[in-house]
Amino acid sequence: MTATLIDGKAEAAKLRAKVKDAAAALKAAHGLTVGLGVVLVGEDPASQVYVRNKGIAAREAGLHAVERVLPATSSEAEVLAAVGEMNADPAIHGFLVQFPVPDQVRQTAVIDAIDPAKDVDGLTPHNAGLLVSGRQGLVPCTPWGSLLLARGARGDLSGLNAVVIGRSILVGKPMAQLLINDSCTVTVAHSKTRDLPDLCRTADVLVAAIGRAGFVKADWVKPGATVIDVGINRIDAGNGKSRLVGDVEPAAMEVAGAMTPVPGGVGPMTIACLLRNAVVAACHQNNLPEPAGL
Ligand code: NAP
Repeated sequence: MTATLIDGKAEAAKLRAKVKDAAAALKAAHGLTVGLGVVLVGEDPASQVYVRNKGIAAREAGLHAVERVLPATSSEAEVLAAVGEMNADPAIHGFLVQFPVPDQVRQTAVIDAIDPAKDVDGLTPHNAGLLVSGRQGLVPCTPWGSLLLARGARGDLSGLNAVVIGRSILVGKPMAQLLINDSCTVTVAHSKTRDLPDLCRTADVLVAAIGRAGFVKADWVKPGATVIDVGINRIDAGNGKSRLVGDVEPAAMEVAGAMTPVPGGVGPMTIACLLRNAVVAACHQNNLPEPAGL
């Protein structure tokens, strides 16, 4: 069989249109302009591209977007001060710090400094705890976008076996929790997992969030499975050029029932979900109901 391609670009465009409508409605009804901030520390080219794309997407959706760029030599105290300014700024309803941060800055210290009400990346212990509790908080964007794509491809996920490869706080763990909340039976795999190929073959829904190009082989995929490839890996394309590939080898398309491409799958959904979280955060902070359908 040849898998249906899960069109993350198209799904993201639909979500962004809903966000744009919701943002316009908040402005019209309450004079509220949703504000999204990003703090970037250093000059990592990939991070610069992500931050620029987030700003463009936010402005296109009618959000007030602020980028705060700090030098790579910034001390932890300087980064925490920038976080504190975002926390205190009433025009910013949600913000994130683009990771990774330079070595002299502890990621945990940064996360702990973020006001959970503005934590649009869903990384604070408060929001992680709400997710585990099955309660409404701010959910990390990449897993939330991945879940929406899996639901869109598969419909009701209840009772399905899901395998998530990766256990990061940004992707793997919240992904597993979201799938549990959708009543999947979930196994989380990582670098110490034994017999990973056999485990993957049990998965009706297989999520790969590893960071290794083509790591998941076609014969690890259960025929008809829904495959969500979160990985973004830059590889040499020859001629001094590079290109982006996922964690799942492309031949898996011949086995899966539906599969996300890289690029054009989970990536666009991540940004759309970030905009969605900013709107949701603005609603919570103003005691307004979340817009329907977001
Ligand atoms: P990460 O923090 O490096 O986590 C990678 C996970 O993969 C870890 O849990 C690790 O296991 C596991 N792993 C590594 N080698 C493995 C192996 N041989 N077998 C099984 N598991 C293995 O990365 P991340 O932040 O979660 O991101 C994962 C990938 O998603 C990256 O390619 C990243 O660029 C991409 N990403 C994409 C988006 C998007 O918008 N599309 C957003 C975020 C991340 P251990 O815990 O045992 O080390």
